[in-house]
Amino acid sequence: MMIREKNIKALNQKFDLLIVGGGVTGAGIALDAASRGLKTALVEKDDFASGTSSRSTKLVHGGLRYLKQLEIGLVSEVGRERAIVHRNAPHLVIPEKMLMPLIKGGTYGKISTALGLTVYDILAGVRKSDRREMLSREKALQTEPLLNPEKLVGAGFYSEYRTDDARLTIELIKAAGRYGAVCLNYMEMTEFIIQDGKLCGGVCQDLLGKEELYIKAKYVVNACGPWVDVLREMNNSLSNKRLHLTKGVHLVIPHEKMPVNHSIYFDVPDDRMIFAIPRGNKTYIGTTDTDYKGSLDRIVSTEADALYLIKSINDTFPDINIHLEDVDTNWAGLRPLIHQEGKTASEISRRDEIFEAEDGLTSIAGGKLSGYRKMAEKTVDLVAKKYHKDSGKKLLGSITENLTLLPDHLKEEDLTSYKTEIKERLQSLGIGKEKVEYLISNYGKQSDMILDLVGKFEGTDSEEKLLRSELRFSVDNESVMNPVDFFDRRTGRLYFDIDSVMKYKNIVIDDLVEYFGWDENQRNEEEDQLEQKIFDVTHFFTNDFV
Ligand code: FAD
Repeated sequence: MMIREKNIKALNQKFDLLIVGGGVTGAGIALDAASRGLKTALVEKDDFASGTSSRSTKLVHGGLRYLKQLEIGLVSEVGRERAIVHRNAPHLVIPEKMLMPLIKGGTYGKISTALGLTVYDILAGVRKSDRREMLSREKALQTEPLLNPEKLVGAGFYSEYRTDDARLTIELIKAAGRYGAVCLNYMEMTEFIIQDGKLCGGVCQDLLGKEELYIKAKYVVNACGPWVDVLREMNNSLSNKRLHLTKGVHLVIPHEKMPVNHSIYFDVPDDRMIFAIPRGNKTYIGTTDTDYKGSLDRIVSTEADALYLIKSINDTFPDINIHLEDVDTNWAGLRPLIHQEGKTASEISRRDEIFEAEDGLTSIAGGKLSGYRKMAEKTVDLVAKKYHKDSGKKLLGSITENLTLLPDHLKEEDLTSYKTEIKERLQSLGIGKEKVEYLISNYGKQSDMILDLVGKFEGTDSEEKLLRSELRFSVDNESVMNPVDFFDRRTGRLYFDIDSVMKYKNIVIDDLVEYFGWDENQRNEEEDQLEQKIFDVTHFFTNDFV
């Protein structure tokens, strides 16, 4: 039986906790709750991580910008969290040196940067050997020759972590599943079940099987990111504290057109800062931060968004001269921030906050990907209190601080030897060994399970065989239901290797037809959805959709 059918059957029980929303926040809560022994279900209306959790800058960071806003507590908390998330998944949360150029008239001076980065390192508990270095103008130019020598006065060089937001979310969902959580994508909560004024579950629509299901639970958590207020409206619990959505856009450019050596965090004229991050043979740049009132379900990049980023790049790196046509792909996402009167998009705090409704609904909003684990712990602590009060039973405290994300954990000290092993396997299968970074950072030790499948596929195109093995693996283990799930959230190819999507999309659809038994109509529908997604990430629009 496919995992989905098994999970749908398993919904027919009374849960302790129902989580609505399968982004990183909901997935983190599911793992925390299930690993403490709560009977947990999670429903996601689209794919896991299809909301903001696949559209971020993909950094697990301590939030240097918050230091400027003097949010010391936040810097310190997310800084410590970085180290924990890295320790528990070193293949996926990877140390990355970040260069911060200092320019004449820029946001930060030499002394304030040296001081700021030192405080940042201390607050985040960075190891002495990894602490910030201050670079002279000459050293900075040597490190990053693309910077503008006319404006540069030096640079800070400090430690952050990069990740893949969607992969992190998927691994959290899988880990929660191993602790018994029942997690379903394409399952939309449409109504709350309320008895005697108390919330006791949700009515859900299975968007694939078209069935309506009643999921009963003692407690319900709303982890719907940008949709948090939609749910709060559903049970009339929307109070004066509301979400303030801002849009952030990223552009992906071939690395040869923007050949930065390192991740760079640079000043732009409107007093903001932007990242340029190399990944594989691409460099991605972001982000914008503008108020958003458009559609929650189709978020696109406008030409104005792209031109703002392109101007920022060309101002900082005068020799590269990027144009709109140089952009391969782009993505746009919404920050579910909590409104603060009189503050602009960039000034609003990124803090998370929990809202408790009278009928028992717990909503969590705001926050960062980087702080997902702590947010989950706080939310489940609150549920645990209610559970204790109602049942007299005490729950364990959170155990996620020391919980590795994959059961077959790849320790940091074993990364190099594992890479050598995988390179050898790739070579023996006739696949380019340059795939090693992609495979290990996406799948960790599950790379072996994928390579075990390669021999099942016929043909001479080794790239195709690898891709079909990944597809088989992700259908069997990661709830892939359609080609967009696969190309977008499971593999990131939609953004970072669009050529492979164009080349292999029909083969992927053919395989899915075989795995799921789709008829012609269904096949056409899936094809159309993939084409629309490809269009959205390869074009710029005049306006946002409403
Ligand atoms: P989401 O990921 O949006 O998840 C909510 C889910 O709820 C969605 O998948 C949605 O489909 C589902 N849902 C909604 N309604 C229903 C319903 N009725 N039934 C079932 N499911 C429903 N943070 C960092 O730490 N580092 C960064 O580098 C970073 N960069 C960012 C850059 C940008 C441009 C943006 C926008 C954000 C960035 N963030 C970053 C913040 C981070 O991405 C978010 O805080 C985080 O992803 C929010 O996750 P979430 O689970 O709360 O929301």
